[in-house]
Amino acid sequence: MDRLLFGTGGIPHSAKTKSTIGGIERIAELGLGCMEIEFVQGVKMGEAGAHLVAETATKEGVKLSAHAPYFINLNAREPEKIRASQDRILQTARIAAICGAESIVFHPAFYLGDSPEKAYNMVKQYLGETLRQLKRENNRVWIRPEIMGKVSQFGALEEVLNLSTELERVAPCMDFAHWYARTGRFNSYQEFTSILLQIKERLGRGALDNMHIHVSGIAYGKKGETKHLNLKESDLQYIELLKALKDYDVKGLVICESPNLEEDALLLQTTYNALLKTD
Ligand SMILES: [Zn+2]
Repeated sequence: MDRLLFGTGGIPHSAKTKSTIGGIERIAELGLGCMEIEFVQGVKMGEAGAHLVAETATKEGVKLSAHAPYFINLNAREPEKIRASQDRILQTARIAAICGAESIVFHPAFYLGDSPEKAYNMVKQYLGETLRQLKRENNRVWIRPEIMGKVSQFGALEEVLNLSTELERVAPCMDFAHWYARTGRFNSYQEFTSILLQIKERLGRGALDNMHIHVSGIAYGKKGETKHLNLKESDLQYIELLKALKDYDVKGLVICESPNLEEDALLLQTTYNALLKTD
């Protein structure tokens, strides 16, 4: 990736048709650069549809990523639930590859009362099996565990960085809103840059050149995230975040998950471009 692109998590509200293709066309019309296809309720797109999506994205110059179904728990008690979780990651990666997406994002697991170490070993083992299958299929999509916003969810920054270090073709989905909601910290320029430095130290400069970022406004309580908000209704210091991304020359996709989707994606993009011009 040669720069930072901004877009929406799902089809923009102002798209003429509520389809992935309609969404991509609207992203291009708005002057945004990317869109995350939301397979969160299941992968319902077929191969023929995915080829059409790829054609449209290439024609419109829009980069794509995909979000796997929510119903994934690699730390489930029942073996069949783990297998179903692995299948959902595989289905997402297969269709995403046909769509021309370079990354898929997923919510790895719940602790279910287990120690973080025990959950980590489960996630690592079952994700590892899934990755080996994708390798056999020559699927080169980046598999990105997301930084999660609730303390009951596996997906602390260190956990995702450890998986990214230990497993090939795994990289973080750095959700800054979730990490803020989970910790009650990491909402200042200094703290944002400390995260970027940590990523660079653990994974190398290449990770900052190929980042996948989620941003939204957010509300949180003792247990972490309660809901997503629009940026201007939230105290997420998005201008400080954009400054940190600019100063560390971060490249890749920034996916906006505020309820107003494209409005905040455009706000982020406009603010970032203004920061670039002040150099
Ligand atoms: Zn997510």
